[in-house]
Amino acid sequence: MADFPLKSYSAAPWMEELKHIPRHRLELAMLNTPIHRWNLPGTPANFDVFIKRDDMTGSSLSGNKIRKLEFLLADAVSQGCDTVITCGGVRSNHCRTTAVATRQLGMDCHLLLRSEATNLDGSFTGNTLLDSMVGCSFYLIPKKSQYNSHIYPRMQQLVEYLRDSLGKKAYPIPIGGSNSVGVFGYLECFRELLQQNVQERFSDIVITSGSSGSLAGLAIGNYLTGSKLRIHGMAICDDAKYFHGEINKVLRELGMQEGQGSSGVRSEDIVDVVEGVRGLGYGLSQPEELECINQVARTTGIFVDPVYTGKATFHLMRLMKEEPDRFQGSKILFIHTGGVFDLFSGAMGSMADKRTSSEKKVYDWMEMTEKTPLCQSG
Ligand SMILES: *Cc1c(COP(=O)(O)O)cnc(C)c1O
Repeated sequence: MADFPLKSYSAAPWMEELKHIPRHRLELAMLNTPIHRWNLPGTPANFDVFIKRDDMTGSSLSGNKIRKLEFLLADAVSQGCDTVITCGGVRSNHCRTTAVATRQLGMDCHLLLRSEATNLDGSFTGNTLLDSMVGCSFYLIPKKSQYNSHIYPRMQQLVEYLRDSLGKKAYPIPIGGSNSVGVFGYLECFRELLQQNVQERFSDIVITSGSSGSLAGLAIGNYLTGSKLRIHGMAICDDAKYFHGEINKVLRELGMQEGQGSSGVRSEDIVDVVEGVRGLGYGLSQPEELECINQVARTTGIFVDPVYTGKATFHLMRLMKEEPDRFQGSKILFIHTGGVFDLFSGAMGSMADKRTSSEKKVYDWMEMTEKTPLCQSG
């Protein structure tokens, strides 16, 4: 177990009017993450695409969730909790990041996973393999469980059970770590983006959105600092109404909603939610999305994932061609939110095997060298 001291957190001056500013932060992520050009295949000539590598926030902690967990787990530690409970799908990056980070902090982790199955046989691949390797406990819940009506009450029950029967103090974290504590992860990311001069360099920011917290943080940061970037959330589940509802809830909790103070604002005014990205539904892939993931890897060396960033990339490429006016300008910064371990979940299927032998570039060395000797001896 590593040693991570609880740091006191000082908010940026532009955050000072917010309610519920966290007092503590843990430094768990590798920051600042770099920004570089991303030559996506087929980018129209007038567009310039760059990528911010939030897939590089750590190795096992890779992805956007660790930024939120720096605040959520600091809150848990400062309250004297020794256990964390959270939830998600079986392939959840948020659950994996929480499982690994809590182990590094010497805490226990319990995961409520949505699944159609009644066991995890055959599922210990990708993120779930890492969850089990760090020894967290799994509870399978029905796939269609809604957070407020089904998951939240179960997490509360588990908090009570762990307290009453094991004497543990558990800290529940909502889906995706998206609440008014977790949102500070991406408010801080916006602060980092300002240090990286994004205001001068870009017109638009594109980020994949699932539980909405990362998108909310960036959009609120953009609004509070008066920077004029346009923030687009690629909705990999649900619809715009859902995302605006979630972001408005966070605005209310931060005391920023219309009628609440001088800076009252609505999600609808500060975020462009892009619908039509979800495809067949959360966690379900179409062949053209998987092909896009392969093509992007082959041409740029960057790995995007099937559930989140692959769909967002597919639709970013489509929008630049089909709806260029959706963007405020032509300098796009894509936030790569991670998800690399999901490439090992089995979702990529047998794409590699299906390629023709010349596409695969697998050669029989002996046969090839007999036909054309690679080294001619003198
Ligand atoms: C969770 C996740 C997202 C979405 O972030 P939210 O803050 O939940 O909206 C995007 N990409 C990846 C890889 C994720 O794991």
